[in-house]
Amino acid sequence: KPVVLSGCQPSGDLTIGNYLGALKQWVNMQDDHDCYYMLVDQHAITVRPDPQALRKATLDGLALYLACGIDPSKSTIFIQSHVPEHSQLSWVLNSYTQMGELNRMTQYKDKSQKSEANMNSGLFTYPVLMAADILLYQADRVPVGDDQKQHLELARDIATRFNNIHGDIFKVPEPFIPKFGARVMSLQEPTKKMSKSDDNPKNFVGLLEDPKKILKKIKAAKTDSDEQARIYFDVAEKPGVSNLLSLLSCATGQSVENLVPQYEDKMYGHLKVDVAEAVVAMLEPIQAKYHQYREDQTFLDKVMREGAEKASAKASKVITSVYDAVGFIPRP
Ligand code: ATP
Ligand code: MG
Repeated sequence: KPVVLSGCQPSGDLTIGNYLGALKQWVNMQDDHDCYYMLVDQHAITVRPDPQALRKATLDGLALYLACGIDPSKSTIFIQSHVPEHSQLSWVLNSYTQMGELNRMTQYKDKSQKSEANMNSGLFTYPVLMAADILLYQADRVPVGDDQKQHLELARDIATRFNNIHGDIFKVPEPFIPKFGARVMSLQEPTKKMSKSDDNPKNFVGLLEDPKKILKKIKAAKTDSDEQARIYFDVAEKPGVSNLLSLLSCATGQSVENLVPQYEDKMYGHLKVDVAEAVVAMLEPIQAKYHQYREDQTFLDKVMREGAEKASAKASKVITSVYDAVGFIPRP
C-alpha cells in the first residue's frame, strides 16, 4: 500500500478549513493506503504557546481526529514529540537545506510579519522539520491544503538533494491537494486563508463551535460591496461570495455550477443562512462523537501509546540508514 502522511498543529481549535483541506481527505485514504496522521506539537511551539493551552489543544485535536473518522485500527495516529526521530532527522536535513530556500517560504514571511517580536529560528526552519516528518515514513502521498504546497516542494527538493549525494535513501513524496476545499478563506478577510491561530475569532469557524455562534459568524461574513448584490462565483471580483459558495458546495456535495442558478434572485442573507445550516449539519456528527472521545482519557492514552510505537518502528529504520549514510558511527 502507498504510504500517506499528514498532520495538523495543535495551535488552536481545528477549523472547517483544516477539515475540508486535510482531515476529510485523510479519512477517505484510510482503506487503500498505509496512513500516518500526527499532531505536530513540535511545530506548534514555534509561536511559543502557553504550555497548558498546548496540552489541551493536543488532546482536543486527537479527539477530533477520531471524531472525524480517523480510525486507529486502520491508521497510525500519533503525537510528533512522542517520536524523537522527527527532531533527529530534522537536524540532519538542516545541513541539506539552503538559507535561500527557506527565505523564499511565504508562510514564514506571513507568520514573522504577524509576530515581529518573536522571529525565532524555529519559525524559519519549520519547513525542514516538516520535510523530516514526511521523509521519515517514506511517504508516497501527502494530503494537505493548498497553503502547504510550497513546503512540500521544498521537502521534495531536500529529498532529491540528499539522494543525489548519498544514494537512494528517501522516497520523493507527491503532494495530494484536493480540488475543492483546498483553500477555505477567512470570513472577514476573504482574500487570506482561514487559520485556526487567527487573532480574530470572527475569521474562522472551529469544528467544535456552537451552532448559534456559527450562524452568527457566517451571517457576519464579509460579502462584496458591488452595486448589484448578485451571487456568482468569481474569486477575484467577489472573494467573499465565492468563499461562501465553495463552502456550501463542500458541505452539501453539490457543485458550484449547480448552486449558482439557485441563488439567481436571492440575496446574500439567503446564501449565508444556507451556508451556516449546511456547515452546522456537516459538523453535528463530528461534535457528538468528539465529546465521547475527549472524556475517555484511557482510550486516548491507548491510541497515543500504540500510535507512537507503530510510528517509531517505521521511523527508526529510516533514521538508522540516514545516520549511516552521513557517516555517524553506530552506538556500540
Ligand atoms: P496555523 O494558523 O496555526 O498555521 P492552520 O489553520 O494553518 O493553523 P495547520 O495546522 O497549519 O492549520 O495546517 C493543517 C492542515 O490544514 C494543512 O494540511 C493545511 O494545508 C490545512 N489548512 C490550513 N488552513 C486551511 C484552509 N484555510 N483551507 C484549506 N486547508 C487548510
Ligand atoms: Mg498553518
